Amino acid sequence: MRTLRNINTVTEAHWVGNGFPVSTMFSYEQGAQAVSPFLLLDYAGPVEFGPAQSARGVGEHPHRGFETVTLVYRGEVAHRDSTGKGGVIGPGDVQWMTAGAGIMHEEFHSDAFAASGGVLEMVQLWVNLPAEHKMMPPGYQSLTADMFPTANFTDAASSFRVIAGEFQGLTGPARIMSPMLVMDLALVAGERIELPFAKDWNVMLTVLTGTVQVNDGHLGRDATIATFENDGEYIVVEANNDARVLITAGAPIREPVVGYGPFVMNTEEEIVTAIEDLKSGGFGELPA
Ligand code: MN
Repeated sequence: MRTLRNINTVTEAHWVGNGFPVSTMFSYEQGAQAVSPFLLLDYAGPVEFGPAQSARGVGEHPHRGFETVTLVYRGEVAHRDSTGKGGVIGPGDVQWMTAGAGIMHEEFHSDAFAASGGVLEMVQLWVNLPAEHKMMPPGYQSLTADMFPTANFTDAASSFRVIAGEFQGLTGPARIMSPMLVMDLALVAGERIELPFAKDWNVMLTVLTGTVQVNDGHLGRDATIATFENDGEYIVVEANNDARVLITAGAPIREPVVGYGPFVMNTEEEIVTAIEDLKSGGFGELPA
């Protein structure tokens, strides 16, 4: 079994724009190699919004050098970007946006969700790109709930659904640029599941809701992040009550990480270039 490196319930939250009250479960700013190929995981735990006249969210802003992945569990999020793509995603849907060489986008509650109000629960995951792909053309994948393969674990009622990468013969629909696994777990109370991973992969386990015992002892509840050493073949999760867990695991990209706000590159020089390109309009603009 892998040694548990750290387990931490995150109680601090901050606002992204005026629409997304998030807890940062992990960030490359606390050590990029330990969480690679991922950069950041923000969790907007279940939060109730009243009906509003106009949609809350984050206005037009750029990204370069990585991918932003939005997973909606409850509520609805609307997106528009400078490639002309966009749409509304709802419960179970995922949008996988590749900023690559540069994109401008906005992220808001959908008009319908804003008008009705309700509970919002979502994750935004930042996925790094290997240096050779950082300046790839920007792209947008709208992945709807029906596209994700789902299966029960062997002899269990607990199930998994694969968003990206491959697990037990099922492959998620997301196009990915380095080896990784992004997978939701729906755990049933009392069941104990072993999850195998390649030893050199980094593994981060986020408890979204419920109570989960990790590696036969350490308890995690809502908004808990567990990280593991690269010293074993598998980890163990046991649900104390029904629980939902997000697994982010992957082969580390062994390259320097230099981030500045919405840009994540390999060198300071590339950051300076990104800022210059943004000033000169090189990131395009949102459709009118
Ligand atoms: Mn963004």
